[in-house]
Amino acid sequence: MEIISGYSMAKATTFKCGGMAKWFVCPADLFEFASILKLHQGKKLFILGNGSNTICPDEGYDGLVICTKDLNKMVIENDLVVCECGVDLFKLNIFLAENNLSGIEWSYGIPGTVGGAVIMNSGAFGSSMSDYIDKVEIFVNNKTKIMKIDQLDFSYRKSCLQGYPVFRVWLKLNKDNKEKITALQNYYYNERKSKQPISYPSAGSVFKRKENIIPAKIIDKLGLKGVKIGGAEVSTIHSGFIVNKDGATATDVLRLVKLIQETVLNKENILLEKEIIVME
Ligand SMILES: Cc1cc2nc3c(=O)[nH]c(=O)nc-3n(C[C@H](O)[C@H](O)[C@H](O)COP(=O)(O)OP(=O)(O)OC[C@H]3O[C@@H](n4cnc5c(N)ncnc54)[C@H](O)[C@@H]3O)c2cc1C
Repeated sequence: MEIISGYSMAKATTFKCGGMAKWFVCPADLFEFASILKLHQGKKLFILGNGSNTICPDEGYDGLVICTKDLNKMVIENDLVVCECGVDLFKLNIFLAENNLSGIEWSYGIPGTVGGAVIMNSGAFGSSMSDYIDKVEIFVNNKTKIMKIDQLDFSYRKSCLQGYPVFRVWLKLNKDNKEKITALQNYYYNERKSKQPISYPSAGSVFKRKENIIPAKIIDKLGLKGVKIGGAEVSTIHSGFIVNKDGATATDVLRLVKLIQETVLNKENILLEKEIIVME
């Protein structure tokens, strides 16, 4: 397992900006993942999936980034689909369609990994990852531990697993036919393409929705759509996204996040909570 010294987080995140990680490693299997976690116990580390919900400040990350992209095995076991944390959601969707398994078609087009989607309790079109989880394997006190769904406290874009390395996830899905599943996946994918600014780098929705609070609507109402700081812009297609329009730095993005939060707080008395994760 090669530990790289100095790795550009602009390369490792979908925002395509940010500084360097001091150390960067991609374990080849769960055994290596456990070894590196044991070796690095008590030291600063960040577990990265596909970096599609993450931004690294320009100052960089003064610790070890463990990227899970090579932990990508998936199998069917007793009616459940077992995924390693680094399984890509696109590939998972294709695997599920091939095996006539339905449920998470809404996630087709989310550019993340299963681990990231569980930690963030990712969702779309009224469904969330937690609706399809049977159990999760985490790493705690130097060993793996299985947590059943009823032990896990999931809420909107949040899970009690935040801070714990996720190794594997067991998903429970429903039998259906491949054509129907593929048609649904394509439907959701096209919905995304028509409503999201997918031609520019971003990390998806910047702020969390809450009951009666739809950040994109408030941002629109306050005339912040299209506002730019440096190369970062509040998307003109979907105001809930900030896009890296033109060589944005992470500082540009984070200043724009702050400007939106301050404006919304001053004018609407609402504190928008960030959905994106800032590496600190
Ligand atoms: C164009 C676009 C569209 C998007 N659409 C949606 C959407 O519809 N719905 C939605 O919910 N999100 C959406 N997102 C955001 C993002 O893709 C999801 O949250 C995704 O599931 C994150 O996965 P990731 O692997 O990229 O996570 P990362 O960004 O790599 O990590 C996110 C968080 O999870 C942690 N993490 C990752 N893997 C592990 C692990 N194995 N163990 C422990 N912690 C881990 C990280 O430390 C970090 O805190 C979108 C993003 C983009 C760019």
